[in-house]
Amino acid sequence: MSTPRPLIAGNWKMNGLAAALDEARAVAAALEERPAGARVAVCPPATLIDRLAEAVAGSAVLVGGQDCRAEAAGAFTGDVAAEMLAEAGARLVILGHSERRAGYGETDAVVAAKVEGALRAGLEPIICVGETLAERQAGRALEVVTAQVRGSAPAALAGRDFAIAYEPVWAIGSGLTPSIEQIEEVHVAVRAVLVEMFGATGAASPILYGGSVKPTNAAEILSAREVGGALVGGASLKAADFLPIIVAA
Ligand code: PEP
Repeated sequence: MSTPRPLIAGNWKMNGLAAALDEARAVAAALEERPAGARVAVCPPATLIDRLAEAVAGSAVLVGGQDCRAEAAGAFTGDVAAEMLAEAGARLVILGHSERRAGYGETDAVVAAKVEGALRAGLEPIICVGETLAERQAGRALEVVTAQVRGSAPAALAGRDFAIAYEPVWAIGSGLTPSIEQIEEVHVAVRAVLVEMFGATGAASPILYGGSVKPTNAAEILSAREVGGALVGGASLKAADFLPIIVAA
């Protein structure tokens, strides 16, 4: 099986009013001029998905959501269904981000149900996993992350496009990054679980690294073993920071 193209996905989190669309337009224009080896996605707040999809239509930039509800419709005030994201122009969706696991009590079972919702709507899920600093210091990083993969990745993923994003909680937004050896150790362990669970699909699905990826460290991280791309938070908000990361893949 050929190696899939890496995926570089930008997570804008709760940042971005209409003016931010210019940053996505700048990324799209740069990729037009110099096509990237990687697939590129921008995941804005839900309010911007349809406008961002329109702004980058016809370009190499894919649009993603940051979360979805498992159900397709219903009395769930404030929530968004995967079908709604897809209709607005999203092709991917980030699920199980640590900010949602920690802030909204999302368990692996909740994340797995959301992944099924995303697949039902034809979205490619990016499933986030990662240990806290206390878990790493207790020597439990591999155990925690592999358990999250097993619990958050439903059987329905077999034969479907999806990515896992390994994001150590302590590296997100902190400027701290694990050593390359620590990243590789986790990515290799995640790959083994994916192959065990999904066979050929699990061997081919990209495993992204996320957590303080910047233009200055992207090349080294992206060349590490079993790193198939990056999930980028803060550095995805400005095209001038995001583009060098894309080029490094
Ligand atoms: C994230 O929240 O997914 C993330 C990786 O953030 P940052 O790049 O800002 O650490």
